[in-house]
Amino acid sequence: MSKTQAYLALESSVQADFQSSLSPNDALELLQSGNQRFIEEKGAKRRSRTNLLKGAAQGQAPFAAVLGCIDSRAPIEEIFDAEIGDLFVARVAGNTVNGDILGSIEYACKYAGSKLVLVLGHTQCGAVKGAYASLKDGNLTGLLERIEPAVAPVRETHGSEATDEAIGLSVANNVQLVCERIKRESQILAELAESGAIRIVGGVYDVATGEVDFSTYPG
Ligand SMILES: [Zn+2]
Repeated sequence: MSKTQAYLALESSVQADFQSSLSPNDALELLQSGNQRFIEEKGAKRRSRTNLLKGAAQGQAPFAAVLGCIDSRAPIEEIFDAEIGDLFVARVAGNTVNGDILGSIEYACKYAGSKLVLVLGHTQCGAVKGAYASLKDGNLTGLLERIEPAVAPVRETHGSEATDEAIGLSVANNVQLVCERIKRESQILAELAESGAIRIVGGVYDVATGEVDFSTYPG
């Protein structure tokens, strides 16, 4: 039985025995197959709410941690056909990292056993567009400055007009840079990745097709 089949056969929320049976590659397969079900509209609410809550009361053992954007068009559990207890989800405009986000992901992987970190950008990202336009306003200024290193090289080659191509390249750059920052700024996550206990990967979600491109940062 594939791990996806085993996952689909679960009757309650993910528990530690299932989580510990997964490799980082298995966790990635679960996200990929979940997104496929979402695209094909085969996403099924298979497990009853009652069973999910009963499982949740026993504890949690999510198989992956996803860092996504706040964008309303990219709801993380939904696009991976996931349920209560499946995923740790951190969301911040532009799916960037700071100390609190890194600490959250460290908790997810080191103390709660998640096998995979997915940094998920998305097409048409308003935060990336704001950074591209060098928007400065209130607390957005500091947030968008974190995205500036991803957009600066694109602005240089493509000019200041925020075309779809320029934003697409910037979104992918941002995902790659965030994946690298996670490894550079979190010794805990770098060591877990180095030992093979986790994988850190990056993808881009297409808000028009519902598809996640997992090739942005294979890890
Ligand atoms: Zn966004």
